[in-house]
Amino acid sequence: MAVVELSKVGKQYPGSDDLAVKDFNLVTEDGEFVVLVGPSGCGKTTTMRMIAGLEEHTQGAIKIGGRDVTGVAPKDRDIAMVFQSYALYPHMTVRDNMAFSLKLKKYDKADIKKRVDEAAEVLGITALLDRKPRALSGGQRQRVALGRAIVRQPQVFLMDEPLSNLDAKLRVDMRAEIVKLHRKLGVTTFYVTHDQTEAMTMGQRIAVMKDGIVQQIDSPNNLYEKPANEFVAGFIGTPSMNFVDANISDNRLSGQDFGLALDEPRREAVAGRGRVRVGIRPEHLHLATGDDRTCRMYGKVEVVEPLGSLTMIQAKVGERTLTAQIEPHQQVSMGDHVTLTCAPDKLYLFDPESGDALI
Ligand code: ATP
Repeated sequence: MAVVELSKVGKQYPGSDDLAVKDFNLVTEDGEFVVLVGPSGCGKTTTMRMIAGLEEHTQGAIKIGGRDVTGVAPKDRDIAMVFQSYALYPHMTVRDNMAFSLKLKKYDKADIKKRVDEAAEVLGITALLDRKPRALSGGQRQRVALGRAIVRQPQVFLMDEPLSNLDAKLRVDMRAEIVKLHRKLGVTTFYVTHDQTEAMTMGQRIAVMKDGIVQQIDSPNNLYEKPANEFVAGFIGTPSMNFVDANISDNRLSGQDFGLALDEPRREAVAGRGRVRVGIRPEHLHLATGDDRTCRMYGKVEVVEPLGSLTMIQAKVGERTLTAQIEPHQQVSMGDHVTLTCAPDKLYLFDPESGDALI
């Protein structure tokens, strides 16, 4: 186990004018599970490869277990990697695949056997040890790939989209398995995904990246409750947050076909401003049922999606299409005119130019 420290870490690939990663700052806890998440090309893999030593960092410093690893070869960093392609050796049994790196390092036979047996036990693949990879399912192969990393008992695990070759159901199961495994082994882990649900369910802390820059590093709850900016707010949560621009006057927000009340903290947050970007999560936007007219959005239903325990609708409010969550018993059809509402304390507010959160 080890603390990993990234101080102003950056990467400029040769021949490129832009930085693929810029000013990445993070100090992990010992044994923490950190997820890097963001859209394609935001620099997740580059960051992992720099920690692994497969790619040199061109700015800043990386420390693993207190040791500056600049110039230290990947094999000497005491890390183990699990990638999207499991890259198992097809002609070797599961046992030999798992033992391979230990044999290279000339561990003694009894120690190798003990480590492989223990890892297989933890992963529930003891019965598969004599099989070849072609006789395994996708999930079982993924377990073997994890096993190969575990036997090395590294200070840090680096996992780059390890589940993306699995089907949706298996991915959900394996997510839980990896989290359990992490709890059991307590090894500091970096995990890359572009899937925000995966990030939210697995990470103790999550670094949300965009264009090579970390937008926010926080717990799943804080990312959801207190996003630092519009990008994070829109990236975290499914369906995505709705955004509308509003004018501010007389402590109210208004725009085409809507008027929303501001509570005290939000009034203070927008004091002196004429306009603001409002964010409303679909799960906070509902059909108005009572007489309270302080928060109203008037829309026309374009899409109705019954999902069983709840129903999602999309309604056109002014020029915007907003997603709202309604109860399954509320009968709504395409083309209906509906009145939507949201509690004032659930409104997110952003600077329309910078996108920074105001509250
Ligand atoms: P994805 O989710 O698609 O894997 P990512 O977030 O992992 O994306 P990176 O692969 O780290 O992103 O890429 C970050 C940026 O660096 C991209 O603009 C990419 O084109 C660029 N890049 C990656 N590898 C190289 C390379 N070897 N040479 C030059 N540019 C590169």
